[in-house]
Amino acid sequence: METLLDVNNLVTSFRTADGKLPAVRGVSFSVNKGETLCIVGESGCGKSITTLSVMGLLPDNGEITEGSIYFQGEELTKKSDDQMRKHRGNDISMIFQEPMTALNPVFTVGYQIKEPLNLHTKLGKKEKKIRAIELLSQVGLSNPEKVLKKYPHELSGGMRQRVMIAIALACNPSLLIADEPTTALDVTIQAQILDLMDDLKDDLGMGVMMVTHDMGVVAEVADRVMVMYAGHVVETGKVEEIFERPQHPYTKGLLASVPNVDDEGHRLEAIPGSLPNLNEKITGCRFHPRCPFAMDKCKVDAPPHFRISDKHQSKCWLHEEVDSHEYQHKAYS
Ligand code: SF4
Ligand code: MG
Repeated sequence: METLLDVNNLVTSFRTADGKLPAVRGVSFSVNKGETLCIVGESGCGKSITTLSVMGLLPDNGEITEGSIYFQGEELTKKSDDQMRKHRGNDISMIFQEPMTALNPVFTVGYQIKEPLNLHTKLGKKEKKIRAIELLSQVGLSNPEKVLKKYPHELSGGMRQRVMIAIALACNPSLLIADEPTTALDVTIQAQILDLMDDLKDDLGMGVMMVTHDMGVVAEVADRVMVMYAGHVVETGKVEEIFERPQHPYTKGLLASVPNVDDEGHRLEAIPGSLPNLNEKITGCRFHPRCPFAMDKCKVDAPPHFRISDKHQSKCWLHEEVDSHEYQHKAYS
């Protein structure tokens, strides 16, 4: 499979009153053509910062301090703002959580959908209109000519998110990055948008990197899953493996907190405690203060990534210390 994005040992830090603090602490992953990688974890775990690092859209006090990001063989961290602008909205596109804020309220849909075409293509006026109509029908909006003339507030939440996707697709990106794209939408519309994204991924052969805190969304769209905790990747694997044989205690906790529709009596088992602050010094495994399986060693030494199978890795000492069969049957209690 062709690798689109290859991130190695990425460290992204923020300058704060307490000094320079890392929010992403040595993250490595790749996204292939035609696949969806879901990045999951509680809010604040570093997943959005990872995507903003890739997009070159970090806030002013943020910077990539280590590592590399290769996109189709080109090293992005070495590029200037101008060079990054040529990628954004062109071969790498992004859709955000809240289309009402991402869309500009004072411009029509037509104006906004033509913007990336103005920036990245040499299409004439007529061709741009044809392309805009084509894009709006591609994302399932009926009556695209009418939608072109509308302002964002005249559309429903689901329609706005479809428009955002159309804008993101305008220049045929190879990589689509989506940060919680359906969180603001109700469940039915959410399912429609996820279906749409999945179809478009297959039709257009894009790679998709989707950030979510929702394991239900992951189950729906992911080919592979990357679980992040406090700036680290703690587990990666194919979606079936993550759901059927989760290895890391944090992943197990995330899955235990998913409501089960078949089981009405199911109790939501949120993981006790909360994510550490950026300035909190935690030795050893950064999950140890919240981990029901923590051992003495976990408080001192950071675990490496243990290989579970070909594409499955988990950053936890249990894979060394505990007979893996026995561990499989341990659960949150
Ligand atoms: Fe828990 Fe230790 Fe594994 Fe960290 S390394 S997740 S503390 S068992
Ligand atoms: Mg976020």
